[in-house]
Amino acid sequence: MTTTLPEPPADLGLGLEREVPLSRHTYMRIGGPAAYFGTPEDLAQFERIATWAREHALRLRILGGGSNVCVSDEGVRDVVISLRRACGQIAFDGVEVTAGAAVMLPALARAAAERDLGGLEFAIGIPGSVGGALQTNAGIGDGRCIGDLVRSVKVWRASSRETSGHVTLPAEAITFEYRNTSLHHSEDLVLGATLSLVPRPRAEIDAEMRRLLEARQRTQPTAEPNAGSIFRNPPGDSAGRLIDAAGCKGLTVGHANVSTLHANFIVHDGQGTAADIAAVMAEVQRRVLDTSGVRLRPEVEWWGDGPPPAAWHLPSEA
Ligand SMILES: Cc1cc2nc3c(=O)[nH]c(=O)nc-3n(C[C@H](O)[C@H](O)[C@H](O)COP(=O)(O)OP(=O)(O)OC[C@H]3O[C@@H](n4cnc5c(N)ncnc54)[C@H](O)[C@@H]3O)c2cc1C
Repeated sequence: MTTTLPEPPADLGLGLEREVPLSRHTYMRIGGPAAYFGTPEDLAQFERIATWAREHALRLRILGGGSNVCVSDEGVRDVVISLRRACGQIAFDGVEVTAGAAVMLPALARAAAERDLGGLEFAIGIPGSVGGALQTNAGIGDGRCIGDLVRSVKVWRASSRETSGHVTLPAEAITFEYRNTSLHHSEDLVLGATLSLVPRPRAEIDAEMRRLLEARQRTQPTAEPNAGSIFRNPPGDSAGRLIDAAGCKGLTVGHANVSTLHANFIVHDGQGTAADIAAVMAEVQRRVLDTSGVRLRPEVEWWGDGPPPAAWHLPSEA
């Protein structure tokens, strides 16, 4: 399958590896190979990769923490980029912090706490990057979310030639909704964001973060590979409640099952495949539709080449 794909020319210094298993880079520990995988040293190298990918009509995907994706067992014929080296910086200025897209939320929350700055406590247990969080407006059940803190987002937009691709979007130019933002499905790739925090004593921040982490330990299957909440909450209800009510806790296909601790988590025993996860999801959807009439929509994103598995085939208004 990969024989028809172009080889990156050595003289361009793209630093791309071939056929890299994405199971190494996803929180679920599942996923076939990326045809190309790169961790550019800086934005100049990133832009060379992006330009080369465009010239060869290859899709460029950014992988952050890999905590909200389910990658096909066959992998993807795409160029997958980690911005870990190019966009991993944190800079504080008063109550504002500018963080690179690859900065992980828990690390950012801790760095802010060290400066007596609160606002990011909610993010302590979300294993995603700033760039990933800005795709879904990551947040927690009480309504706190990253969108509330955003002052501006720096993106790379290939079509913006006059700015060499670099565009800074003020918060007002971005729509933040429940687990969705206008940045997602746009052509913009997030390079970093400036967030507005609030002064708060470190002891208070630490105490709240401890409480939040303890609550996760009690209610979520933290020991087994998973991708967090697998379905979005339907309006006015909770996906976990509906899945539990449909009797799906423990439902198993292959090596994957609905967690017995939290019904909206699908876990696997280390041998699970994307096909197992997708099959459990489809069966959960079928049973929940039967018992409550609700079509659950995946929160986790599917990465694959062909049409997505049935679990992701849903009418857009569902
Ligand atoms: C144990 C666990 C608990 C979780 N708890 C929560 C929670 O409480 N609240 C919550 O909201 N989510 C939660 N999640 C889901 C997940 O952590 C979030 O959605 C997170 O924001 C995803 O970030 P990521 O960097 O891992 O994104 P990835 O999974 O790497 O990518 C997700 C999408 O974002 C895109 N993307 C990533 N970086 C960029 C970028 N720089 N520019 C453009 N696109 C980009 C990717 O291409 C992909 O489309 C949880 C997940 C797990 C595994």
